[in-house]
Amino acid sequence: MEYVLEVHNLTKSYKSFKALNNLNCKVPKGSIYGLIGKNGAGKTTLIRIICGLQKPTSGIYSIYGKKNTDLQISNSQRRIGALIESPSIYDNLTAIDNLKVQFKLVGMPSFDGIDELLSLVNLTNTKNKKVCNFSLGMRQRLGIAMCLVGNPDFLILDEPINGLDPEGIVEIRELLLKLNKEKNITILISSHYLDELSKIATYYGFIGNGYMIKEISKENLDKLLQKRIILKVKKVSQIIPLLENMSISYQVIDDANIILYGDIDIQDLLSYLKNNNHKVLKVIEKDETLESYFMNLLGGDSND
Ligand code: ATP
Repeated sequence: MEYVLEVHNLTKSYKSFKALNNLNCKVPKGSIYGLIGKNGAGKTTLIRIICGLQKPTSGIYSIYGKKNTDLQISNSQRRIGALIESPSIYDNLTAIDNLKVQFKLVGMPSFDGIDELLSLVNLTNTKNKKVCNFSLGMRQRLGIAMCLVGNPDFLILDEPINGLDPEGIVEIRELLLKLNKEKNITILISSHYLDELSKIATYYGFIGNGYMIKEISKENLDKLLQKRIILKVKKVSQIIPLLENMSISYQVIDDANIILYGDIDIQDLLSYLKNNNHKVLKVIEKDETLESYFMNLLGGDSND
C-alpha cells in the first residue's frame, strides 16, 4: 500500500508534558482517514507538526516519501491543503475576493480556477457576498476552497464540522466525498462526531494521550462492529450443517463455542436448533457501535 503520510515515534514535549508520545501513524493514499481522540489527545499537535507549523521534539514523519529532515519536505508540504481550527478569512471581503487574496499568497500566476473552486464548494451564487454575512457552513466551505488553491492532493481538516447545523454537516460531507472520489484527494480529518465520521472515513486512527492506540481500515472495523451472537453448544460440528441450511455466516471458536454474524432472529434460530435436537447452553449477543468501540478503546466518555 502507498502512504501519503508516515509518522514514526513522533514526540512533542512541553517541559515534562508529552503532547505526542512516540506516535506512529500511516495515512494510505486515496483514503479518508478519520483521526479520532478525546480533547487534548494530541490531534491538533500532530496536524500542526505535519503541516510544518511546529517542530517535533523527536521522531520522524514523511510526506509523499520525503522525511521532515529532508530539505525537500517543504515541496511535499506544498501538496497539503490544511484547515486548522478556524479558517483565515477576511470578514469584510467577499468570497471571491478572499480567494483572490489566497491565489496571490500561494503565488498562482492568474485567477483562473476561482470560478471552478466556487462552484465546487457551492458558493457560486454567493460569491459577491461579504463573508461577515455568511453562515458558519458557508464559511467552512470557503475555508476548504481556500485550502484547495494550488491544487493540493492531501487535504488536512481539523474538526471541520464543529458548530455546524445538520444541513451544513451534510454539505461538508458531500464536498469531502466529491473531493476524494472525483479529484483523488487524500483527506485526513479529525473530528469528535463519530457518527458523521463513520459516514465517510475509509481508515481510522484512534489517538489517546499522545500515542496511536489503533489504526484500522473501515472494512476491518465494520467486521468488528458487526452484530454477532456467540452460541455455546454441546458439539459445534453438529450444528454447522443446520447453520448452513439457514445461510448464517459463522466462525468456530472451539468445539463448544461458535460466533454467528448478521441480523439473526434468535428465537427462530433457537427453535430451529431445538426441533433438530440440539440444545443451546448459552447465548451471548454483541452489538457494538463505533461510539462504544471508541469508548472501550480509549476508556471513559468519548468527549471528556
Ligand atoms: P482538542 O480536540 O481539544 O483540540 P487535541 O487532541 O487537538 O484536542 P492538542 O491541541 O493537540 O489536543 O493538545 C494536546 C495536549 O497538549 C493538550 O493537553 C494541550 O493542553 C497540550 N498543549 C498544546 N499546546 C501546548 C503548549 N503550547 N504548551 C503546553 N501544552 C500544550
